[in-house]
Amino acid sequence: MNNLYLKSFIRCKRKAWLDYKGDKSYKIWSPHQSIEIVHRYKNFYKLCEGDLYAGTKACQKGTNGVIGLKVKSKLINNIRAEIHPQLIKRVSGQSKWGNYKYIPVVYKLGHRTTKEQLFDLAFCSILLEPFQESKIENGFVISNYSNDLNVEKIDLNQKLRKKVLNLFLNLNEYLKGSIPEITDDRKKCTLCSWQKFCNSEAKNNGYLTDIDGIGSKTAFLLQKNGISNIKELAAAKKNELGETLFQFKEQKFEKASKFINQSKSYLSGIPIRIYDKEYLSNLFSNKDSGFLIFDIESNPDEKHDFLYGFLKVNNLFEKVEDNLYDPILNLKKNDRKAHQQIFQKLFSKEYLPVLHYGETEKIAILDLARQLDLDSKEIEILKSRFIDLHLVIRGSWILPIRNYSLKTVANWMGFKWKQKNVSGSKALYWWIQYETTLNDIFLKKIIKYNRDDCLATLKIAKWLIKNNKNMN
Ligand code: SF4
Repeated sequence: MNNLYLKSFIRCKRKAWLDYKGDKSYKIWSPHQSIEIVHRYKNFYKLCEGDLYAGTKACQKGTNGVIGLKVKSKLINNIRAEIHPQLIKRVSGQSKWGNYKYIPVVYKLGHRTTKEQLFDLAFCSILLEPFQESKIENGFVISNYSNDLNVEKIDLNQKLRKKVLNLFLNLNEYLKGSIPEITDDRKKCTLCSWQKFCNSEAKNNGYLTDIDGIGSKTAFLLQKNGISNIKELAAAKKNELGETLFQFKEQKFEKASKFINQSKSYLSGIPIRIYDKEYLSNLFSNKDSGFLIFDIESNPDEKHDFLYGFLKVNNLFEKVEDNLYDPILNLKKNDRKAHQQIFQKLFSKEYLPVLHYGETEKIAILDLARQLDLDSKEIEILKSRFIDLHLVIRGSWILPIRNYSLKTVANWMGFKWKQKNVSGSKALYWWIQYETTLNDIFLKKIIKYNRDDCLATLKIAKWLIKNNKNMN
């Protein structure tokens, strides 16, 4: 039993069980986790001013930071425990090695310090104390925003240690039992390496949280009212269901109708058209004018959009030639040359409508326009040219899918990305590797991925036009 299982257990009981007993061939590689590891190492190196080594020998030598340490011991009820601290940092004190001791350190990517990080520090300190023969009063949670290293000191008091030991006993009991249920909070699954395994089980069992817009709270409410799976939801009566969805206030009947239709479509595999012309009209009125299709790749932690990809099509149904795609790299944050290129593209000859998927692209361009002091009239004209296909699809169709991300929607429509298992997080992982190695191979992968994202957006636009014709 180690601190890694404990961390998983805090996130999702099933994850801890799967990490311990599951068939690892079902696990998928998580770019998010890899990004965290790269950032973590960089920041540990910075915190320890480069004096960072691995293993027990490094402790004996008294290096500033030690990674890759494993410590084993027996805890309450004689249960064997092991820790793999992310980092231990040398501080003043007295230990079996001399006039210094170590305290545990964890790295966090986001802004919030989580229970997972606090418990990890507390658990590591419990095993580290006998190992180094010295008390530990504090640990550090470190983070980095805009290149500033932040160090948060955590008091590893008795209350926290008691809580973590109780959790450890609880984990031990869970691991003896059979596989726990899929978590109610399916948002947690997005970054989990077991998501494929759990998604297929959820689908087979008709889990309510597989329906777009149903989170753990709504699922619980539905269950309380006798609806426990998608089949039952699809058969529900709109008015009766609406009354139970009181938390949506005046939208409760609209929501009820959406959930019922989404369930029907999910079960049958057949899309359902919502007759709302408003969303489609902008796309249709411009369908013969040609389009710019636009997609950004970015590093959200650094607020850095490193690639702006534009695909120009004169006609939605023409064959897309390679030279119609133009990737504008913004290798250094706020590169004026890249920004000028973007606006040249946007304002070249004709003012084409700009197709994109999700709000990020529009927000990013309007922010840039303000930074470049475009006058308000020009900004308004620019704003009116953006057509968000995510809004269009959600406003006009119910599709037999779990969510309406670009990947899920375009995949369902038959689009295939040329590179396997790609995602925005993977593109970000390539970007981080490019920043470290300056190897152009990573830029090429990002560009290829971004071009496919533009083509996937085009696929959605074509589908919308084609299927609207079929409806008329
Ligand atoms: S995919 Fe979701 S339910 Fe499955 S282990 Fe991960 S977090 Fe838990």
